[in-house]
Amino acid sequence: MNPPSPDIRVSRRAATRLRSGHPWVYRSDLEGEPALPRGGLVRVLTDRGEFLGSALASSSSQIALRMIAAQPLTESDLPALIAARVREAINYREHLGIPNVSNAYRLVFSEADQLPGLIVDRYDDVIAFQALTQAMDEPEIRKQVLATLRKALSPAAIVERVDPKIREKEELESRPGGLAFGEKTTAIVSMKPDAGSAPVRLHYDAAAGQKTGAFLDQRENYAAAIPYAHGDALDVFCYQGGFAMHLGRVCSSVVGVDSARPALEAAERNVELNRESLRVPEMEWIEANAFDLLRDWSAAGRKFGTIVLDPPAFAKNKRSLPTAIAGYKEINLRALKMLEQGGKLVSCSCSHHVTEEDFLAMLAQAARDARRRVRLLEVRGQSRDHPVVAGIPETAYLKCVIAFVE
Ligand code: SAH
Repeated sequence: MNPPSPDIRVSRRAATRLRSGHPWVYRSDLEGEPALPRGGLVRVLTDRGEFLGSALASSSSQIALRMIAAQPLTESDLPALIAARVREAINYREHLGIPNVSNAYRLVFSEADQLPGLIVDRYDDVIAFQALTQAMDEPEIRKQVLATLRKALSPAAIVERVDPKIREKEELESRPGGLAFGEKTTAIVSMKPDAGSAPVRLHYDAAAGQKTGAFLDQRENYAAAIPYAHGDALDVFCYQGGFAMHLGRVCSSVVGVDSARPALEAAERNVELNRESLRVPEMEWIEANAFDLLRDWSAAGRKFGTIVLDPPAFAKNKRSLPTAIAGYKEINLRALKMLEQGGKLVSCSCSHHVTEEDFLAMLAQAARDARRRVRLLEVRGQSRDHPVVAGIPETAYLKCVIAFVE
């Protein structure tokens, strides 16, 4: 028999939030100063003792509790529940038909799949996972996650990706990451803009790169940009060329810009990978600070038919919002000036703190300052394999606006 999970009482404010479907309890919303079990299960109660649900606790994070179920649970119920949730997450992507167009997509997206703190991405037969919380790092849970993934997908390898900063925040011992199963750490992934088209192929290397290796959240935006793109294209913050390779299908030339040399080297390899099977125009990769390059090129009067802006998150928290907006405005203003009449702007922000409303307001200001009229063709978000859950605004973070610039 497992010992009963501790009862944790939370403030009225937290109870209201939980009842509305949001899964988090902040440390400041705990009643009294309870000792939370590291990564363990707790029973969440209102200040009057009514049962609200079961949650996974963190002894260090500001997000003290993350709800895992509406019903009472014991620790011994957890592995089966986690396994069922992982299977549901896999089925959801299959239900949407995502594996028919790509063999690279997010399999598990944390709270959006009711698996708070767990990220799992598929890169063909290599799976990359990341545990972001004490609970998801518990040996029993990890074992269950790995076993479920192996059973459901028969991958060649499973690789753990580690974010040292997150592990430090969660007071998890530092670990290097690496293979958790199998031997393979590279793959060639493919993504089709639609089921009938030839795929763009991209190298994946689990031992290198940012995030879990690629920016899978942009996959559907790559495809969405194709019908609008034309002329000479500029892909700013291009990383390994995700947008650039897709623009290459329709544009007369593509310039990719990034400050990370290894990313550009990977982009160059991606070009070679597609040369046989896809139309590949003249492509150039430039290592530069995007702010400097946009300033210089707009001053020099360079013109493009299509410009993509996909910068890193400028706003890491609410306090940095004004500086972040100023940064977005600067790059959008320069890009607008560099677009030909009738040019297309694909402008993104992956900062959760910048809302869609903030982002559109920034774009309107940039348009006014650039003296260009901007018509919004599409206001998009992240690919559907990174689900957005009603009532959990934190699950929506990516904005991708495609615009016609007069
Ligand atoms: N568009 C890419 C993802 C971009 S992520 C894709 O779809 O895969 C943001 C990129 O911006 C990273 O590759 C990072 O190296 C780059 N970067 C960050 N700061 C930069 C700067 N000041 N100038 C140029 N590139 C920068």
